[in-house]
Amino acid sequence: MTLKKNSGSKTISNTKEKRKTSPSTNELIQGILSGDAASLAKAITLVESTRKENLQTANTIIEKCLSSKNESIRIGITGVPGVGKSTFIEALGKLLTSLNKKVAVLAIDPTSTETKGSILGDKTRMPELVKDSNAFVRPSPSGTSLGGVTRKTREAIILCEAAGYDVILIETVGVGQSESLVHSMVDFFLLLKLPGAGDELQGIKRGIIEMADAIVINKADGDNQKAARIAKIDFNQALHLYPPKADGWVPKVLLCSALQNEGVNAIWNLIEDHNLQSRQTGSFIARRKQQNKYWLLQTVEDRLKRDFYENPTIKAELEKMMVSVMDNQISPFAAAESLLARYKKKSN
Ligand code: GDP
Repeated sequence: MTLKKNSGSKTISNTKEKRKTSPSTNELIQGILSGDAASLAKAITLVESTRKENLQTANTIIEKCLSSKNESIRIGITGVPGVGKSTFIEALGKLLTSLNKKVAVLAIDPTSTETKGSILGDKTRMPELVKDSNAFVRPSPSGTSLGGVTRKTREAIILCEAAGYDVILIETVGVGQSESLVHSMVDFFLLLKLPGAGDELQGIKRGIIEMADAIVINKADGDNQKAARIAKIDFNQALHLYPPKADGWVPKVLLCSALQNEGVNAIWNLIEDHNLQSRQTGSFIARRKQQNKYWLLQTVEDRLKRDFYENPTIKAELEKMMVSVMDNQISPFAAAESLLARYKKKSN
């Protein structure tokens, strides 16, 4: 008797569990819109999925979650491994949740697309924030291309905003194109640097200084304080070498100790100033519009490329053409023309 009862209740709880793990598309959408973090996490998993059968569901969810309210602030945070990104995000995130804001942390890890390991994205990197019910921390999606990974992150931003997150922090490391990709999806771009960076100024990737809305010298504590002040002067001078930003914003250099939670408030105040100013001048909306256009074109490009290279006929033909091109039997241009003509014929 007891056994029967037990197995009965097990079945019920199994069914419940099953329902829990596979909610309908509508349930997911409703869950996200009501701010349910579990629904949000599941929807992001769907968006990240590379399985064709999930694409339609993912697109439906995104369509329903799109909003033109533009109320959130999207902040990109970059810096070399060890500069203190996770410590800083934890400190900033805690400050924001203490101000009653909901914070989502997303990551783009360019290293995970090449090696299977990853520098970013490990949840344990922000132990406090992970426990905070007003914070949502999501590791970097994995993918075969950086373009694919960043597209997924961009879609995750839309879902987080629909779930009511006010501030979206997007973290990346300074490898390859990842910084400019993050820059093209945020309202404010923050570059974290180490004290003593003066010597390093020569070697810094040029475009990065131009992209930054603020440069933060982290670890400005203990013995580092003097070096940090010198770095601040150096970076300020470096910033003056660049033409003013189109939106009129003058990038700032700030000192911070994420570990001791010093300077984090001032950084948030600066971000809020930028937010206020850019909303007043209209550059906030203009920037987001441009970004939407960019991502439309980027997505088309990604899809076309994938479609082309994954086409079995093209794959086989490309192999042969590569050999012919290397042996100088056909020019690279003629080979490309021939492949594209073949592809066009296939897709018509
Ligand atoms: P990430 O790789 O950029 O995410 O860097 P982490 O946040 O993991 O920090 C790397 C190391 O630097 C850790 O040992 C941190 O404790 C330390 N760290 C981070 N911020 C500071 C800071 O403001 N001051 C000092 N002294 N150490 C820090």
